[in-house]
Amino acid sequence: MKYISTRGQAPALTFEDAMLTGLARDGGLYVPETIPTLSADQIAGMAGKSYEDVAFTVMRPFVGDVFTDTEFKEIIARAYAGFGHATRAPLVQLDQGHFLLELFHGPTLAFKDFAMQLIGQLFQTALGRRGERVTIVGATSGDTGSAAIEAFRGLDNVDVFILYPHGRISEVQRRQMTTPTESNVHALAMDGDFDDCQARLKDMFNDFEFRDGVRLAGVNSINWARVLAQVVYYFTSAVSVGAPHRKVSFTVPTGNFGDIFAGYIAKQMGLPIDRLVVATNQNDILHRCLGGQGYHKGETTPSISPSMDIQVSSNFERALFDAYGRDGGAVAQLMDELKAGGFDVSQGAMQVLQDHYDSGRASEDETSATITSTLKTTGELLCPHSAIGVKVAMDQNLGEVPMITLATAHPAKFPDAVEAASGIRPPLPPRMADLYDRDERVTRIANDLDALKSHIKGHIRP
Ligand SMILES: *Cc1c(COP(=O)(O)O)cnc(C)c1O
Repeated sequence: MKYISTRGQAPALTFEDAMLTGLARDGGLYVPETIPTLSADQIAGMAGKSYEDVAFTVMRPFVGDVFTDTEFKEIIARAYAGFGHATRAPLVQLDQGHFLLELFHGPTLAFKDFAMQLIGQLFQTALGRRGERVTIVGATSGDTGSAAIEAFRGLDNVDVFILYPHGRISEVQRRQMTTPTESNVHALAMDGDFDDCQARLKDMFNDFEFRDGVRLAGVNSINWARVLAQVVYYFTSAVSVGAPHRKVSFTVPTGNFGDIFAGYIAKQMGLPIDRLVVATNQNDILHRCLGGQGYHKGETTPSISPSMDIQVSSNFERALFDAYGRDGGAVAQLMDELKAGGFDVSQGAMQVLQDHYDSGRASEDETSATITSTLKTTGELLCPHSAIGVKVAMDQNLGEVPMITLATAHPAKFPDAVEAASGIRPPLPPRMADLYDRDERVTRIANDLDALKSHIKGHIRP
């Protein structure tokens, strides 16, 4: 299995190299050259299996011969051992034909743990074998950073630096990044918004001298291994409501388009997915784009669902690559136009996108109202991101096809917004109840490439 860049100019890589690199050297994102498929029998055989067993079946064909079967099984087992729920991703029913997939039982209470815990184990095994070390730099709107720090803290061959927009993430998110005591962990509070953090991260990757000098590796949602890890729960959940004998739809609270793109991969692999619904908050650039209005950046407006406050949705490039018939030159041109503010999608590509994706948005008031009403009708306390998913799912014409909405974070990660809507302040699970008492360690840093580079060079271990 080889991986190619969405911009067509970088060398094809193995799974291991694509994973360790993150962003391709032409600025593009790695995607598999072909998508392996699973037969209906193989999918039916997942019924009743453990999450780990399904993970092995789904991911094995993408990994190639980089790991032995035994190694890969051990990696998966270690990745999910720290989750607070035996089934890893439990499904609860909200209403007739509407289900909620709880993806918040990992160590940092958001779905990012599914990918990041796996990536931590994959990096550990691959780097240990090569006798190499890397510097991981990530940008976060909150949940990626805490998940990355949790996955890499204390590992010998990794130093990890996480940029987050100063003052724009929740206190729980911040504390999850600033309280680990391991010396290989560095939280950086950058002036600016999440798109600024993401832009500086891209600058660092495009500075090849720096990139090679510190052996930069990326674990943002552009990393293919992360998308792959997220494909698994589309299978486990769809099979529990009747796939492959029955079609299933999904609604996904969306920011960087990584989670929903994993659903698209599951569909390509043969899972009978009917609709994939992109749910956005008031920062609705994806909803507008899928509605045919082109992809044009505006200002990011802070919301009660900060992990979805975004204008440049990096994984959308992977969807565009397929929509443009895998023409890397065409994608490179769109991305150039995006730097200048935005682009229009060609009619043919728009058709392909609309064949696969629907979309909807929820305002701040609708989000709060959905937290209140869902608590009342089901007893389930939603985080604001998950509430956006539930609201948008309810707006769809569900018909006979069951809808699964992804619950992307635990309500206790966003206690202020949840309390304002419901009157209930959701407590942290007991295993992290002392989070508010731990000491914080963080560096405030300017939105400036040179400042970032020199800070990182000065703090990596030799
Ligand atoms: C990251 C995140 C999202 C958005 O997921 P993408 O893969 O970036 O689209 C939604 N909700 C929560 C809680 C998140 O942490």
